[in-house]
Amino acid sequence: MTEISHSLGRIQTAVHRAAKRSGRHPDEITLVAASKRVPLERIEEAAISGIRVFGENRVQEATSKFMGSGLMEKIDSVHLIGPLQTNKVKRAVGFFDLIHSIDSVHLAEKVAQEAKKRSLTQAILVQVNIGGEESKHGVSVKETAQLIETVRRQKHLSLLGLMTIPPYFTDPERTRPYFSALRDLGIPLGLRHFSMGMSADFEVAIEEGATWVRIGTALFGQRKD
Ligand SMILES: *Cc1c(COP(=O)(O)O)cnc(C)c1O
Repeated sequence: MTEISHSLGRIQTAVHRAAKRSGRHPDEITLVAASKRVPLERIEEAAISGIRVFGENRVQEATSKFMGSGLMEKIDSVHLIGPLQTNKVKRAVGFFDLIHSIDSVHLAEKVAQEAKKRSLTQAILVQVNIGGEESKHGVSVKETAQLIETVRRQKHLSLLGLMTIPPYFTDPERTRPYFSALRDLGIPLGLRHFSMGMSADFEVAIEEGATWVRIGTALFGQRKD
């Protein structure tokens, strides 16, 4: 067994336990392997271990790693989990199966325009700055409903749910209120998918309703910068 398949086994066990604790079915939760700055060989190793969904932070890095590598045949999808700049929209639309980081009307319109041009429907999540932090991307809680309304008017966007990166705490229990706040924001808006939880806090996120967990370090080890 490889190092990655060991880590994957541990993560899957933890996902199952967290699902059970909260009366959910483990199949409701999809692991997104956060593979930023992870070299191609290790991504291939992860794909062989059974990981099917990868999340990348940068459009350029994602396209150069995943296109023409033969990897696309071994996996189900690549998601964009990092911020999307408007000048990268052209390359992102259609390449990513899901864009987690739509956080403004302007960006939503740009993505919709590009999707229309290519006659496709782009699946997206709206990223919410649930902790109201200056340093974080995401639409404010106050403006979320308005953005959702705009997104829903766009025929070429398919809105699946909400994403967040909560404030960081060493004790994952302290992130719990932020995860439940995201769920409580999304449910009345008719949204059922929540991208929340990373290596340090994915179990708590699952207990609070996460359907996608984005896990990097716990799977691939510490990233080298
Ligand atoms: C890197 C990253 C992750 C994974 O973080 P880990 O703590 O390494 O699991 C999740 N989401 C986003 C948006 C990231 O950039």
